[in-house]
Amino acid sequence: MIVQVILPLPLDTLFSYGVPEDLEQKAHVGCRVLVEFGSRRLTGVIAEKWAEASLPRETSRLKPILDVLGERPAFTDELLRLTRWIADYYVCGWGEAIRCALPPGIDGLQKTYIRPTEKEPSAWADHANVGALFRYLSAHATATTGGLRQAGIDVPPSLLRRLEHEGLLTLETIFENPEVKVRYQRYVRFAPAFRDAGAAKDVVKQLRGEKQREVVRALADENRTGCDEPLLRAVLERAQAASSTAKSLVAKGIVEIFRREVIRVPELSPLPPEPPKPHTMHAGQAAALNEISDAVGSREYHTLLLHGVTGSGKTEVYIGALGKVLARGQTGIVLVPEIALTPQTVRRFRERFGDKVAVLHSRMSKGERFDAWRLLRTGHFSVAIGPRSAVLAPLSNIGLIVVDEEHETTYKQGDSAPRYHARDVAVYRARMNKAVCVLGSATPSLESLQNARVGKYSLLELKKRVPVAGLAAAPLPDIRVVDLTVERKRKRLDGALSTPLKEAIGGCLSRKEQVILLQNRRGYSPFIECLDCGLIPGCFSCAVTMTYHKPRNILRCHYCGQVQRMPHVCQKCESLNLSKQGAGTQRVEEELERLFPEATAVRMDLDTTGRKNAHHKILDSFGRGDADILLGTQMVAKGLDFPRVTLVGVVNADVGMRMPDFRAEERTFQLLMQVAGRAGRADLRGEVIIQTRQPEHPVFQHILSHDYAGISSSMLDERRLLVYPPFGRVVGVEFRGPAEEKVNELARRWTQMMRRQLPPEVVILGPAPAFISRVKQQFRFHAMLKGPKGFQGIQKHLRAQARDFGRPPKGCHVAVNVDAIGLF
Ligand code: ADP
Ligand code: ZN
Ligand code: ZN
Repeated sequence: MIVQVILPLPLDTLFSYGVPEDLEQKAHVGCRVLVEFGSRRLTGVIAEKWAEASLPRETSRLKPILDVLGERPAFTDELLRLTRWIADYYVCGWGEAIRCALPPGIDGLQKTYIRPTEKEPSAWADHANVGALFRYLSAHATATTGGLRQAGIDVPPSLLRRLEHEGLLTLETIFENPEVKVRYQRYVRFAPAFRDAGAAKDVVKQLRGEKQREVVRALADENRTGCDEPLLRAVLERAQAASSTAKSLVAKGIVEIFRREVIRVPELSPLPPEPPKPHTMHAGQAAALNEISDAVGSREYHTLLLHGVTGSGKTEVYIGALGKVLARGQTGIVLVPEIALTPQTVRRFRERFGDKVAVLHSRMSKGERFDAWRLLRTGHFSVAIGPRSAVLAPLSNIGLIVVDEEHETTYKQGDSAPRYHARDVAVYRARMNKAVCVLGSATPSLESLQNARVGKYSLLELKKRVPVAGLAAAPLPDIRVVDLTVERKRKRLDGALSTPLKEAIGGCLSRKEQVILLQNRRGYSPFIECLDCGLIPGCFSCAVTMTYHKPRNILRCHYCGQVQRMPHVCQKCESLNLSKQGAGTQRVEEELERLFPEATAVRMDLDTTGRKNAHHKILDSFGRGDADILLGTQMVAKGLDFPRVTLVGVVNADVGMRMPDFRAEERTFQLLMQVAGRAGRADLRGEVIIQTRQPEHPVFQHILSHDYAGISSSMLDERRLLVYPPFGRVVGVEFRGPAEEKVNELARRWTQMMRRQLPPEVVILGPAPAFISRVKQQFRFHAMLKGPKGFQGIQKHLRAQARDFGRPPKGCHVAVNVDAIGLF
């Protein structure tokens, strides 16, 4: 038998391996296998299986697979086809898409052990790193590549192989156990003959060993508290006995010890014993749920766009739909932009569906993630909730995929392959499974809106908020725009907060209500400037300014994390006149402390949420009312549902607006609408104050009247004119590398070749230096392809181009980003 294996490489090929007879029964399509690849060992996945007879002769020289990993195929047929589609659509290796669908740590580690031989490396005496390597070896006898890296000795693999070739070293590559495995625990119970309470008493009388009696008593105690099969460890602890005692009881046939798989679940907040009673749906919700249920009932593919204003009760609709799907014996996936930021949404699903739900997130331990993945695969869990990669959850028989806040850009992976958009993969996966996809948002992306307009998706609308005491619907908040330039001219601006916003905060605090403030910039001030010579310190490795952070009195680069002490004098002219320009969250926090000393503010940004559960703690304390003001970056804009929040302030709405991105305006509108939606969600009336320097900008005119329809129409007209998405498609190509000239040259040659090879209906812009032209000492250039929407073959052309161009020069990279989002 021959198998075609997908390997975790950025290549568009499968690799053939033979299957030894003893593995033939295990080697199914979808199984993970261990294989040799050159001098390495890799784990791959079987994509196809062929009988040997149907193949040409020379295949008998194929290398055999070394092992089949795991008890059942890791990939169903469906997931194999889905990942293949991702590789084709997003122009990456199938193996790269496959890896995205597996939990981290499953593949084990490959280690190379390096040992010296008797031979002296005298010919290499002048080579500093080789000298260091041999000194290290004489001290340690064995080295690993990781150990050398830690010791700061840089010997690339090619050099190691050369030294091996010269007989100076031996290299041995070992594939170590995967980090994650099924975990078992031992349990104990009485043997059948001793299972009633009386029997245990008799046993205690007959046994001579005191310790053995203790163990029997402890087990009987556990049984009395309702636990028939307690953990062995717990019983031994209670009896103060060793496991040898338990073993002798097993030998006497009194008790049985058995093992059971442990399911590691992440620590989540405890749920009430009884799920809360679901709300009676308001008419809009009921109508939306009806339509979704009909779609589910039809067993045909459908995508529905649920456009519901903030606080209209979309989550309740998702929950209702999922209930229907589970009742039919099918499974479902719920995507949320970021688990840490949406604890309330996740909690509501857990309350309703209990232990059917696997919550997936990046802060889980590898063991927890492995268990969640494995038990979704076996059907133990029937709902997966998680961010982007949860769209690849290994569920079978999928009936529903929900994408909450479908407009969020975090659904698009931009930094590494596969550069997929989870929303689009969700729609495709639903189609493959004849399932229903529900995309929900208060501010749908223009892509989804257009798809609804042309009838590809059905549009469901919730135009009103949920009912509150005495009203059929909670009103949307009142929105005011404050012109910062006017405030400044009237000399009323001495900090980041204008007088109207300060007054509103004061009023809110005096009524014992809560405030959310958005300042989409962390740190104290985004840059410092010498007032005498104008120098603005930038990062050494990146083409950006350094942000001042007050708590540690440092300058920090937000792209590479490098820090330096805050200088006392200008590095150029030695002036003492260094000014902290602009305001980040820390500065706003300071201002709040000065203005409202009696109030408590909590800050939520990347700097305060580094630790595990930090998000939870901040949101919990705000929810309990321990804090009056929640201040933060866009983290505070999303999905939060706090009934006592009546004021939302946007400190500077212009952040983000000036980005050279054709979606900047759409982004800003969405962010402002989202954050505004946090105000006045229950029976207290809400107010929103937005500070800007350009109040005449159309975005604000539409915001004032909550006019999504108006602004989206005008943005769509503009996109149509410029043939931007959703009317055309864009593909970004990024070139990067450590030497500017080389990258520039690569970008020019690649782009030239594209111009020759791609059909004329594809417009090619660039190459040009990226907006941030250098990050982590890597220079970046971009080219952008704009093609008509109907043009399907662009991926094939790009793949051919990558193949024909060959490898980029050493150290340089080319990344293709289909349907790119973000900066160009
Ligand atoms: P959205 O996701 O549309 O912003 P949510 O689903 O979070 O809205 O609902 C907002 C709030 O209203 C939540 O606290 C939710 O529990 C509550 N809610 C939802 N549906 C109803 C209803 N029919 N009646 C009363 N309250 C509801
Ligand atoms: Zn200076
Ligand atoms: Zn940097």
